[in-house]
Amino acid sequence: MAKTTHIAVIPSAGYSHFAPILQFSKRLVELHPYIHVTCIVPILGSLPSSSKAILQTLPPNINPIFLPPLSLKDQPQCDSVVVQIQQAMSQVMPSIHHTLKSITSSTPHVAMVVDSFASQALDFAQEFNMLSYVYFPCSATTLSTHFYLPTLDEETSCEYRDLPYPIEVPGCVPFHGRDLYTQAQDRTSELYKVSLKRYKRYRSVDGIIMNSFLALETCPIRALKDEGGGYPHVYPIGPIIQTRVDDAKGLEWLTWLDKQEVGSVLYVSFGSGGTLSQEQMNELANGLELSLHKFLWVVRAPNDADNSAYLGEQKGVDPLEFLPCGFLERTKEQGVVIPSWAPQVQVLSHSSVGGFLTHCGWNSTLESVIHGVPVITWPLYAEQRMNAILLCEGLKVGVRPKVNENGLVERGEIAEVIKCLMESEEGGEMRKRMKELEVAARNALKEYGSSSITLSELVLMWKSLANENKF
Ligand code: UDP
Repeated sequence: MAKTTHIAVIPSAGYSHFAPILQFSKRLVELHPYIHVTCIVPILGSLPSSSKAILQTLPPNINPIFLPPLSLKDQPQCDSVVVQIQQAMSQVMPSIHHTLKSITSSTPHVAMVVDSFASQALDFAQEFNMLSYVYFPCSATTLSTHFYLPTLDEETSCEYRDLPYPIEVPGCVPFHGRDLYTQAQDRTSELYKVSLKRYKRYRSVDGIIMNSFLALETCPIRALKDEGGGYPHVYPIGPIIQTRVDDAKGLEWLTWLDKQEVGSVLYVSFGSGGTLSQEQMNELANGLELSLHKFLWVVRAPNDADNSAYLGEQKGVDPLEFLPCGFLERTKEQGVVIPSWAPQVQVLSHSSVGGFLTHCGWNSTLESVIHGVPVITWPLYAEQRMNAILLCEGLKVGVRPKVNENGLVERGEIAEVIKCLMESEEGGEMRKRMKELEVAARNALKEYGSSSITLSELVLMWKSLANENKF
């Protein structure tokens, strides 16, 4: 019988950083059953029900160890969710160290794989004789930009949005400084400093496991693999998306979707935490209505901060109360609204869904790709503007609405882009290209697909080190 190879996996808080690394762990042990994963789970506040549901699906060879929860109330107040998560992760480092010491004293673990927000744990790898890997849940374009940022920081002094020329990251579509991720929009901020330090740390790991695939980001991935770049080894093993499907039989939205024509419905959602202002929510509602297209919209209560729901469910509010007066009645044949949360993968895999108005989080992007659904890009925060550029300008599978001088996307513009995606020739071309990407994504995950081969190479290396008793 093959000897078991043990690895430790460390997620961080926030659904879109928690779920992907667990899904990666599941794929790892499914393809390579001799791997055993010890998953060290930090808890910030309490686990949202969406995260708990994933934990319930773990196979026996993934063993979760829960760290004592950190109270959200005890966290130093700050505006940035990322800094908040980063501070919380710093606080749990002693517990992570303690747990690593305990598990490795009885069973050698060949490697640790940590979420990008848990990168401080990489400092323990040497002490416990483990190889160190970052699990990167974003695009190769974003990773390349992380590696490029210290250079940009050295060579320029103004805010990046004021640069008179586009930023040209090796292998990536050039973009304007105002489209660079949020964490680099204010160079004097704590967020920028913390982020820059984290990206510099990535250079000295044994490898970066990335949720992307060669056919999707050919040039950025090739640039990252360029030996002259001095990057650590990168492993594109995606697209890895959630596979859990709940029994939704009899639910209103599914019954309604089942009745719609193939490819006729636009799905509208802003990820696990995205929120719109009340004014923007009104414009969106009116734009959907004006387009006369069928829609399924995941509605959250409005907020002026664009990621206000990221670290917690909106409790005690009914998002539907914030819709324009009479909207639900007027659109009852045209669309369905779901408060706060929908089983997104299930929705996107439904044959009636033909378009996705998305905030362009990387998980949503991959979920759209693997289901062949073209997009309307509506980026809100983090690196979503860069993902929107990749989708619209790089891959040409999406259309981006214009924002007016007050930062608002107006109803007329919304109706226009919906018509463009759902009925125009241009939209048809986007759909065709997205279907090609869907095939490429599915091929990458086949037994001899690029992502499966990459994952096998990594795992075989771990296995041989474990068998040589080097670990
Ligand atoms: N998601 C979901 N239902 C919702 C909203 C989000 O299942 O109503 C899932 C979605 O499928 C994706 C994740 O939450 O897997 C969101 O991740 P993404 O990277 O797209 O955005 P983020 O939440 O980081 O902004």
